[in-house]
Amino acid sequence: MKKILLNSFLVIVFAAAMVSCNPSAQSDKTTKKENHEQLADGKNDCDHVHWSHHSGEEGPEHWKDLCSGFNACGGQAQSPIDIITTETKADTSLSAFELKYSTTPVEIINNGHTVQFNTFGNNILMIGKKEYKLMQFHYHALSEHTVNGNHYPLELHLVHTYSDSDLAVLGILFEEGEANELFTEYLAKLPVEKGRFESKEMIELRKLFPADLDYYHYKGSLTTPPCSEVVSWYVLRSPVKASKEQIAQFSKILHDNYRPVMPLNDRKVLSFED
Ligand SMILES: [Zn+2]
Repeated sequence: MKKILLNSFLVIVFAAAMVSCNPSAQSDKTTKKENHEQLADGKNDCDHVHWSHHSGEEGPEHWKDLCSGFNACGGQAQSPIDIITTETKADTSLSAFELKYSTTPVEIINNGHTVQFNTFGNNILMIGKKEYKLMQFHYHALSEHTVNGNHYPLELHLVHTYSDSDLAVLGILFEEGEANELFTEYLAKLPVEKGRFESKEMIELRKLFPADLDYYHYKGSLTTPPCSEVVSWYVLRSPVKASKEQIAQFSKILHDNYRPVMPLNDRKVLSFED
């Protein structure tokens, strides 16, 4: 707990320094301090709990204990997982999904855990007859899912919702190769420090995808607290490419923001091939 408080203090000092030109800096500092005192009184308030991808008291192995709302992080159907290709099961009841995406405005935010692109408009992922709406996409370095025990350098997550308790996340793995066209367009504009950025970019979402949309599918969770087990995962079998330099540049911003793989337990990973 001491370390949490110390880290929190450093965050406050850092945040205050960051917004020192902002007249609200002092009140911001006070609010954060008060919030932390509430946390010390009762561990139920998860809103202001600090968690980290890195080992230590706030690291992934302790997420489930940081507050009651994070208890799901210790559940039996957690993500990410290692996908062992010889143990996946082809399932003919699965079908190709349909991407009803368009060129869309995005708001880019570095939330301290990832670089997130909030999307606007009606970008729909059709799975069967169900319409999931794209809310945001973000990146992890290294990949969160591993394939036969191996990480890829980056993984993209496109988060779609049908309801609060029914999410579909598409995972796209990156491998080193030719330069990624979208990265060439927006990598230089990414916020390297935590913060909200006003700039609105237009992104042609279909360009995020490989040509082949075959996938692995399993039921899992959010990979960050609160780790809710409400996610239908679709990890694309074909990776996309980015250059070595682009991967290095992005990884430097993301700071190893991947959760280690979790046990599969009694779940099955299904595979869809068109
Ligand atoms: Zn993610």
